[in-house]
Amino acid sequence: MTDSTTASWGSPFTEEEELYRETVRTFISRELEPRYLEIPARGPERRQLWRKAGEAGILGACIPEEFGGAGASTLCNVILSYELGRSASYGTIGSFVATDLATSMLVQGGSKALLDRWAPKILSGEVVQCLALTEPNAGSDATAIRTTAVREGDEYVINGQKTFITNADMADVIYVVVKTDPTKRGRGMSVLLVESDRPGVTQRPLKTMGFPAGNTGEVYLENVRVPVGNLIGEEGGAFKLLSSSLDADRLQIGGRALAQAELAHQLTVDYVKQRKAFGHTLLEFQNTQFKLAEAKADLEAGRAFFHSAVRKVRAGQCSEADTAMTKLWLTEMSVRVIDNCLQLWGGAGFMDEMPISRIYTSNRVLRIYGGTSEILKMLIARSL
Ligand SMILES: Cc1cc2nc3c(=O)[nH]c(=O)nc-3n(C[C@H](O)[C@H](O)[C@H](O)COP(=O)(O)OP(=O)(O)OC[C@H]3O[C@@H](n4cnc5c(N)ncnc54)[C@H](O)[C@@H]3O)c2cc1C
Repeated sequence: MTDSTTASWGSPFTEEEELYRETVRTFISRELEPRYLEIPARGPERRQLWRKAGEAGILGACIPEEFGGAGASTLCNVILSYELGRSASYGTIGSFVATDLATSMLVQGGSKALLDRWAPKILSGEVVQCLALTEPNAGSDATAIRTTAVREGDEYVINGQKTFITNADMADVIYVVVKTDPTKRGRGMSVLLVESDRPGVTQRPLKTMGFPAGNTGEVYLENVRVPVGNLIGEEGGAFKLLSSSLDADRLQIGGRALAQAELAHQLTVDYVKQRKAFGHTLLEFQNTQFKLAEAKADLEAGRAFFHSAVRKVRAGQCSEADTAMTKLWLTEMSVRVIDNCLQLWGGAGFMDEMPISRIYTSNRVLRIYGGTSEILKMLIARSL
């Protein structure tokens, strides 16, 4: 399959980033694509996949060289996420390695001791990480979280619950967003690195609408003690860490939405050329041509928008409203394109074994996580 993003005029990615893309693509085509329908939801095979991702060199790209990484920008995560979206396997496995974005929390705010300890294991795929912000009573309204961390001597004692967390049930390292000062909202929030083997941590998988082999789950924290050295950034500094992490997250989700729409379009063009009805290929019907032509125009506009955001990130000029607009528009566009594409498959499009069906289901969450479309509109409106 050709990559229309890199092939399109004026790619905003550097040569090094394109090499990274090739590495990611090789990993996906070797390890995920051939057997994506059979990847198990749980068990040792999932761990092995992380190890293989580590061996392939696609994890921890933003870890500085002094800790063994490549010191790359968060744009590598955007590439990783895009390439995952370009693969039918994403519909099975979910965000998977794209959660490597959590590494940027450690890089931004972790002490040298934490980086020395965890960077090699992140790079090798030995540990799985997750970022736990959402709670049963606090999603969009993140400042309403109730998980607390109370300082006792050289330790914090954590109590609370996190839910809908990607990779929660298998994570070894959990970046838990807590209230260190419950009397305050945003400014009372901090991030603590919690090793999941600490007493009081319970991890549980959740069943989701898509991603049959995804790892969405919840985490319970009951009197969990961590040393004060596990604080990421400053006490009260969660929002500073989260805002740059969420901006990058939004861009990578937008990229994934674009990639999914491109994949759906490509698969559908191939399909309508061979599927026949009333003695004609589906492509010969004007309705098919119009739907695919509209989608093609959407994809071209989306790619230009995506590339523009990538350029702004590189220039250090990508605002919160920019990433919000990019995610909002690309995810909403992908719904349009994928839905119209699926329609052209008829009943076959509803069959689970068809990539188009998994693309359709897995695409739904892109308008929810990383900031819902409604919250993004609020952020954009705030900038007006
Ligand atoms: C598969 C999956 C993976 C996820 N991974 C992670 C993860 O790794 N880490 C993590 O921390 N979280 C994760 N999440 C959680 C995700 O970020 C939240 O679901 C999301 O932020 C929305 O929060 P909520 O579910 O509590 O919905 P709510 O906040 O309850 O929102 C419900 C609805 O109300 C709307 N709404 C809320 N406030 C307003 C308002 N002021 N004005 C207008 N409309 C409003 C929302 O847009 C939405 O439509 C994940 C979720 C899913 C489904």
